[in-house]
Parts: sequence; structure tokens; C-alpha cells
Amino acid sequence: MPPASDKQPQPVPAIEALAPGLEAVVLPSERSPWLSAEGMPVRAYVIECGPAAEQAAGPGAGAGRGAGAGACPAAAAGAGAGTRPAGGQQRPPARPAVVLIDSGYATRLSVEAISSAIAGRPLAAILLTHRHPDHGGGARALAARHGSPVYAAPAAPPPLGADPELRFRPLAGGERLVFGGLELVSVPSPGHAPDHLAYHVPARGWLFTGDAVLGEGTVVVGPPDGSLADYLDTIERLAALEPVSAIFGGHGPPVTAPRARLEAIRRHRLMRLEQIRRALAAAPEGLSAAELVQRLYAGEVPAHLLALAQVSVLGSLRYLQERGEVSAEGERYRLER
Ligand SMILES: [Zn+2]
Repeated sequence: MPPASDKQPQPVPAIEALAPGLEAVVLPSERSPWLSAEGMPVRAYVIECGPAAEQAAGPGAGAGRGAGAGACPAAAAGAGAGTRPAGGQQRPPARPAVVLIDSGYATRLSVEAISSAIAGRPLAAILLTHRHPDHGGGARALAARHGSPVYAAPAAPPPLGADPELRFRPLAGGERLVFGGLELVSVPSPGHAPDHLAYHVPARGWLFTGDAVLGEGTVVVGPPDGSLADYLDTIERLAALEPVSAIFGGHGPPVTAPRARLEAIRRHRLMRLEQIRRALAAAPEGLSAAELVQRLYAGEVPAHLLALAQVSVLGSLRYLQERGEVSAEGERYRLER
């Protein structure tokens, strides 16, 4: 589910080099039939697991879990593209394999853009932050094309728009994944989606956060997939991770001041809760979620994003109900204390 923002989508996919061995594939936002709003461009990340020349482990993907279990096979330059350097007896230099974090949309444009960023290198694994169709949609096609396993967290029921035919290796929070020289740890991060995982690369201080933390803007947290209580716990859990020097979200630019960003997100959510308490305190007859959206967001959020804002308001109302602060009668909500 795209986050709430009125950023204009980029017209074509782009590949951004972010650090040695790390690229982002920036994919234009696409309209989704279950959502009447446009989101921000989506980001998938390609991480090298090299140096791989010494780590070539024969045929097969060789991806593994747990200490020392993984291998990151090398590929000859040009392999996968069907080309060989002309006239050479020499063995071409090995190219490190890569891991993909999130898989973009299921569309041809998205799948081709990610494949071009992979650029013929072996794809050791596809790790999904969650299975909303802008993050997990391309996984089945990319896994088939590159012969790669997909890892994701199971959830029942699955999140909105999840590909029902996607086969994946179930991943829990706190699992250590090793692909060649790259170690990642999965971090449970529900709130936006029930199956949400972040991926921490401790050696580089990188944290890939999908829709749990965006580079900018506010993500939707509300029913049916979201829980604000879970989300606030997630923000605290991510803030406690060490070391984190940069956050790479599923939308928006890299975050180079992670602690400040996480604290700003936490405060923004608490501010919205307080606004709802005040609006309800001023309306003893109660308010509907739509009326609350008008009072809180009108003039602040473009009209076409108000439907998404309402999902987040419903998420906040549910949070306050769970704590006994708010009661609901039909569609009207009242402050209890
Ligand atoms: Zn999402």
C-alpha cells in the first residue's frame, strides 16, 4: 500500500548508486485498484554480497541461513546477458552476486527495471519487507527469471493485495541471514502491515525499513493491515538497533540522521493522537472518522489523499479504543475520559 504523499511519480525507473555495493531502483508509483490515491515512487535495493571470487560455491544459488551457512556465488562477467568478451583465452573477472530487498510491482516495467539493475549478476535472494503489491508484486517473476529464493514473513490473513501464488521461505524476526560476505538480520516491524520485516546490515550500519520508515512523508497505519500499537512498538525497536548510520525506506530518499527521523515519526503519531483527543473532547455528541479527517487534515493533505488519511485516523481511533479512551457507537466516536 503506498504511503500518503502527494509527490508526483517519476516518469521512468531510475537506478541510484547510494554507496559502494548498494543501489536503489526507483520505480514510478502505479495506481492500485484497491486504493484511490497515488503514492510516492517505490524503492527496491540491490546489495552486493561480494567480494565473491573466493566464495564461489559451485552451481546453485548457495544462499543460506545461519552462521557460515551462506555462499554468494560469483558470476563471469557478462553471464546472464549471453555475451563473452571477444578473443580472450583469459577468464573474465568474477562479478559478485547480489541480494534484492523488495521486488517492486508485478508489471513488466518494474520487473525489467530491477533486472537491469541486477545486470546479469547472480541473485542470491529476494528479501521482502512485506507483501503489499508495490514491494512484493514483482517477487514471483524475478524469482523465476533469476532462479532465486524469496524470503518473507507469513501472516494470516495475508496483507492486502499480496500475491496468492508467491512461494516464499518463511522468515521470522531476529533471524540472521548470511549471503557470502553479507550478513543481514531480520527485524520484526509490524504496524503498517502484519508481515512487515526490516533488514539490518550491522557491518555497514544500514537499515532497510520498507514502509515502516519512509525517507519522507507519513505511511498509512490503519485497518485492515495496520495497527498503531504495533507501529509505535516498531519505531521503538528500530530506534534501539545498533549500529544504524543510514535508513533506506521503501519510498523516499535515504535517511542519514536515523535517530532524529525515528523520533520525529514517534512524535508525529503522538501529536495526531492528541489532536483526535482534543477534537473529540470538543464534540460531546461524538464525531465520525470522516468528520475527524476534515478537522485534522483539511487544507493540509491534498483532497485525493484524504481516503488514506481516513485509514490512519481509523488506526488512531482503534488505538484509543483499545486503551479505553474512546468508545464507538455505530460510526460515531466519543471521548471516554
Ligand atoms: Zn505497504
